[in-house]
Parts: sequence; C-alpha cells; structure tokens
Amino acid sequence: MDSRHNSLDFADARLHRIQEDGLYRTLKSGTVQGQYITIDGKRLINLCSNDYLGIPATPVRTGQSQSSSRLVSGNDPVYDQLEEALARHKSQQGSLVYPTGYMANTGVMPAVAQKGDLILSDELNHASIIESCRLSGARVSVYRHNDMDDLEKKLEGGAGNRFIVTEGIFSMDGDYSDIREIVDLAGRTGAVTVLDDAHGDFVAGSDGRGVPDLFGVAGKVDIYISSLSKALGSFGGYVASDERIIQLCINQSRPFIYTSALPAFLVEHSLGRFLSDREARRQVLARNTRQMADGLKRIGYDATSQTHIIPVVVGRERDALEMGEFLRKRGVFVQPIRYPTVPKNQARLRISVTAWLTDADIKESLGAFESAHGRFC
Ligand code: PMP
Repeated sequence: MDSRHNSLDFADARLHRIQEDGLYRTLKSGTVQGQYITIDGKRLINLCSNDYLGIPATPVRTGQSQSSSRLVSGNDPVYDQLEEALARHKSQQGSLVYPTGYMANTGVMPAVAQKGDLILSDELNHASIIESCRLSGARVSVYRHNDMDDLEKKLEGGAGNRFIVTEGIFSMDGDYSDIREIVDLAGRTGAVTVLDDAHGDFVAGSDGRGVPDLFGVAGKVDIYISSLSKALGSFGGYVASDERIIQLCINQSRPFIYTSALPAFLVEHSLGRFLSDREARRQVLARNTRQMADGLKRIGYDATSQTHIIPVVVGRERDALEMGEFLRKRGVFVQPIRYPTVPKNQARLRISVTAWLTDADIKESLGAFESAHGRFC
C-alpha cells in the first residue's frame, strides 16, 4: 500500500467503531415500482416510501438539463408556473424552488438569520434544519419537543431577530407540532415562525395545504419550507413566504445561487402532479392510514400516531435490525431507523403509509407484523 493510502487509515478505526455500535449503514439496490420494491430479485411491499399520495406519473417533456444555475441560464419558464402555484397553495406572496428540501432548509435560514439573532429549534427537528441553524451564525437554543413553556422561557431576552423553527409533522415520530400555539406565541413576542412541512404538505389540511391549514393558521406562518419529493412524488424543495424573503433568498442564499438548477422536466413533473386530482389520493391515504394504524393496535403495537407516519419503536439498534430482517423475509420492507437519526436506544421501524397500498397489501403487512409481535419489542 502506498503512503497516500496509509494516510487514510484513520477511516478504519472510525468504521470499526460504527460497526461495534450496531450503526453501520450499507447501500442496498432496490427498484421501486408502485407500492413495491424489488431487492435481490424479491418483490416486497414498500412501507418506506415518502410518495404518500402515489399520484400516477404525469407527462413531461423529455429533457435536456439546463446545466446552469437559475441565476445564469437555468431559469426555465416552468419555474414561474410552479412557483406561482406553490405560493397560492400556501397563501403566501411568493415561493422559490430549490433542488432539494434539504437545500431549501440549509439555504433559507442562513439567508434570513444572522450573527446576533436567536433561533429556537425543536429538539426533534430534522438534520437539515439543525444544519441550517448552524450555518446561519445565529445563537441556537434547542427547546424540548413541542414544549411551549420551555420555548417561551428560552425566547425571553434574546437580542436581535428571533426565529422559531419547527416541523409540521415530525419525520421520525409522526406527531404534529403545536403550530397554532407557536404562531400565537410568535405574534405576542414578535418572533418569526419558520415551518418545515415536508411531511404534511399536500397531505394535511383542506386541499393538502399543509399542517398550518389543519390547525387554522394557514398563511400565518412567516416562512414555509417543504419538499416536492415526498407526497407529490416528484423531486425538489421550496420556500414560500413574503416577497421580501424570496428576494433575500435569490440574492443571498448560497445553496440557491451556487448550484445548478433543478432540470426543467422535474419542475414540470412537480407541476403536473400538483395540478392532478390530489384530493382522491388524499382520501385513499386517509383510509389506508386508518386501516394500518387500527390493525397494528389490534395486534398490540403502540401505534398511537395521528398521521401516515407510524413508528414502531423497538429500542435497541440490533433488535430493530433483526425485526427489519424478519419482516423482509415475510415480504415487507420497513427499514430500521437508528441513531443518530433518532436518539440512542430508540431505534424503530418507521412505517410510512401510502395511497399506493391496496387492502391486500395492508393485510399482508399486518400479517408480517403480527408474526413479529413479542419477538423483538
Ligand atoms: N425536512 C424534513 C423534515 C425531512 O424529513 C426531509 C427528508 N427526509 C427533508 C427536509 C429533506 O427533503 P428532501 O428529501 O427534499 O431533500
């Protein structure tokens, strides 16, 4: 081995440590089609997809990528159509599409919050939100999950602008944030509300307007961030807000400025799905969610989630891995979620229900969960 390779030896110890902790991650090839994923030649029911609505494909121009940033030559006119539609969908003045939801988060917060400001962040916020807070240079104070007293206490006395950032539906627990109380608190204290509704958008509230609509505060969240890669089954992310915030992002958001534009055919893909009959799919999703949650409860699982994200908390990382493997042998794919995505010893199987699933798929999935019951948790 030459010295260049030896200089990378530090990776051995790190990888060994990850393995010892039961946290080693590997990539598995899987072909997704409808409600199924085929792995190693075996077709499994996919309970890990965030394509919650399962909207059938809509036609798009086959596409040349613009191969340029939006501020150079990448700004295809279809962006305007999608951004107008998304702004209306959120009752906001404007919206701006990013290549991913992750980039929308890491792009927006640093463009609006700065050194001297204070950000209050829920302890269960997604990795991209945590990253966005760090990148901003503002002081970050983490409040206990959905704990309004803790939030109010930590909000006191901050200098500069104050931002409260939370999720609509928490991605690994499937619970709602107390967005009505947060909007109210922000109104009383002059704080800015930032909501990442990646899992509630297009699903919750009337016409899928999102979690704020469900709790009667549609259009009252100051900065709304979401993904186009989940319920819409497309790809990308966006922010919807006051026109001044959109202009700040266009001018100062590095993940917006310094990267290539999302290819126009993906933007068309989002627009087509947005304009399709989402309501019918939302109803199927609601019915499937009820069936899955009721079935799990009947078996004896503590499936108390109110949403289409239903975590089955196993505890130890290794047990979660074994339970995932057990289910897979019975034709059901649910990937175990481990630290650092969730806290240590709170490993879980995160079921995401989709409108793709048929009654027979749900029955088969529940059969597999029934066989697993009592063996791992
Ligand atoms: N926010 C939350 C809450 C998420 O769960 C995710 C993805 N898991 C993202 C943002 C990132 O979205 P995207 O996949 O579009 O990058």
